[in-house]
Amino acid sequence: MQTWLTDAIRNTPEGQEADAILRKCTHCGFCLATCPTYQLVGNELDSPRGRIYLMKQVLEGQPATETTQIHLDRCLTCRNCETTCPSGVEYGRLVDIGRSLVEQQVPRSRGDAFMREALRTVLPRRRLFTALLRTGQVFRPLVPGRLRGKIPQARAAPAWPREARHSRQVLLLEGCVQPALEPPINPVTARLLDRLGIGVVRTPESVCCGAIDQHLGHPETAKQHVRANIDAWWPHIEAGAEAVVVNASGCGVQVKDYGHILGDDPDYADRAQRVAELAVDPVELLLDEEARLAPAAEAPRKIAFQSPCTLQHGQKLGGRVESMLRRLGFELTPVPEAHLCCGSAGTYSVLQPEWAKELRSNKLDNLQSGKPELIATANIGCLTHLNEASEVPVRHWLELLDAKEDHAR
Ligand code: SF4
Ligand code: SF4
Repeated sequence: MQTWLTDAIRNTPEGQEADAILRKCTHCGFCLATCPTYQLVGNELDSPRGRIYLMKQVLEGQPATETTQIHLDRCLTCRNCETTCPSGVEYGRLVDIGRSLVEQQVPRSRGDAFMREALRTVLPRRRLFTALLRTGQVFRPLVPGRLRGKIPQARAAPAWPREARHSRQVLLLEGCVQPALEPPINPVTARLLDRLGIGVVRTPESVCCGAIDQHLGHPETAKQHVRANIDAWWPHIEAGAEAVVVNASGCGVQVKDYGHILGDDPDYADRAQRVAELAVDPVELLLDEEARLAPAAEAPRKIAFQSPCTLQHGQKLGGRVESMLRRLGFELTPVPEAHLCCGSAGTYSVLQPEWAKELRSNKLDNLQSGKPELIATANIGCLTHLNEASEVPVRHWLELLDAKEDHAR
């Protein structure tokens, strides 16, 4: 489409990027068919094409309004539209730029602003979040209803393996909320890799991947997180760490984007690009180790896999985990409409609770239609959101695996 961005915007890196993305869009509307929010309400303004028009208007100098903000807020950033788009429109990048612009122009109500600030303050701070969650688990009846359902039952975690006993070493992004919400996932990941002869280097100085601030319209704060992680990981990368393993696909898609996020930062651009290249989802690392994997003894064999949007649309790894689990002997039940978002979408389930619940209800109907004993997934946000209402347990897929031979001895 033709664009007429204002000079002030076009002469910025974000403006140039947005302009290039907008010009790729041919208005064809194919993306409407796979947009979860358009499917819910049938309103063009809640579709990718409608949101692209709204952002175009703002980039061309029309003042953003509350309506612009509402329709951008309702977007899940699931990027299903990117998978569908025949013209390669990078909607995810555009909406980050659009949201940031709108955020600067349209004031939010006091309640909305408070909730967003609270999420940005609490979620990325691992210790604060853990302390609040543990308190919430003790005093659950006193927690406001909107948040009460988000508090999972406490689960015991296995011990971490001893560090640095292998010639192969990887870094692991432990994440900000995952250690508190589902304590077993990180040590289970490290134990599995350890048994395969791959050591996990822990970096307590690493922080949130930056996705929370990025998607709430605060890209500069996100960049601070990205720099802190690069600083924490770089000495280990120089010492030979072969990968940055990210076992939450929502964080994985962010870390794989570090090169782009800090592309204009002369001090960090090269290292950010290197980190992005080293970032892997566990399924990418385990592909070469598959012959040495087996189902964990206690794992149910009949399962449904929920492929997070950040895995299939963000990282373009759709189908990989499912194929691996099948080859390892699991029976995967059919999941209709597996391309649609479950409604978790980072902070979406807190900020847009009604739509998130509707999307979850549809997703659980589809996931449970084949009567699985368990639902496996690859992202902490989806896991927590689905677990709130699922009839069967929801677990990270790595919890279902074990190594045949033990290299940890
Ligand atoms: S990111 Fe998802 S919710 Fe947003 S416009 Fe694209 S398909 Fe729709
Ligand atoms: S499918 Fe792609 S090109 Fe077509 S309207 Fe949607 S974003 Fe634009």
